[in-house]
Amino acid sequence: MQADSDSDAENEEPDRCAFSNEQALYPWTTIINNALVEKLEQKLPRNPRGPTSEMAGYIYLLKSHRIAGMLKIGVTTKNPAVRREQWDRCYPSIQLHAYTSLVPHARLVEHLIHTELLAQRYKEDCSSCKGSKARARSHTEWFKVTESLAEQTVIRWAKWMGSRPFHTDTRMLSLAWRNRLHKARENAYRPAVDHFLSTENTWQHFTDMPRSKDARDDSGVVELIRCTVGNSPFSA
Ligand SMILES: [Zn+2]
Repeated sequence: MQADSDSDAENEEPDRCAFSNEQALYPWTTIINNALVEKLEQKLPRNPRGPTSEMAGYIYLLKSHRIAGMLKIGVTTKNPAVRREQWDRCYPSIQLHAYTSLVPHARLVEHLIHTELLAQRYKEDCSSCKGSKARARSHTEWFKVTESLAEQTVIRWAKWMGSRPFHTDTRMLSLAWRNRLHKARENAYRPAVDHFLSTENTWQHFTDMPRSKDARDDSGVVELIRCTVGNSPFSA
C-alpha cells in the first residue's frame, strides 16, 4: 500500500499546475474555486486508499537549499521524519520545516491545500530520479509561497477537517457546511495569496466560519509543530 504522497506525476493534475512564476493569480481563481467546491462536495468513499480516504495522517512541509524560496507540502501516515529521509535521496539535506498533528482524512486535507495553492505550484525535474523507471522523474508538490502563507494554509485546512465537517453516516458535508459552500460558489472565493486577506470572499473566511456548538469538534487539538534543530518528530 502506498499511503504516502510520493509526487508521482500520474497522480497529479499537470494541466492545473503552474510551472511558471509568470502566472498571474487571477486566471486561477475560477479554476481553484471550482476545484475546491468539487472536492468538498464529494462523498467520502469507504475505500481507505482513495484520495478522500478517511485515513489519519500528518501534513508536512519540507524545504531544501537546492530549491530556495519554495516549500514541499505532502502527507504521510507514518513518521514525518522518516518521510523526510525518503526525500533526502532527491534533495540532500532537505529539512523538515513543520508538520501537523494527526488529522483525519489527511489525504483530502492535502488535496485541499494543494488546490488552494495551485497558482503557486511548481514541478521540479529531479536529477536524482532522471532515468529511473521506478520513480517519478519530476516532483510536483513544490510551492513558491512564504513560510507564513504555507503554514497558515496548512493549519487552516487541517483544523477545519479536525472540526469534523463531514457527516459520519452520509459521509457528505454536514448541512451547515454545504450551505456555506453554496455561498463560496456564489461569491467566487479567492484562494490564499501572499498578502493574507481575511475578507468576506476568501477561502480563509469559509474555513474560519463558526462551528455549530452541538457537533463534535476536534479542531482544538490540531496543531502545527515547527521543527528546529533537536525538535524532530518522534525522535528516540
Ligand atoms: Zn527525485
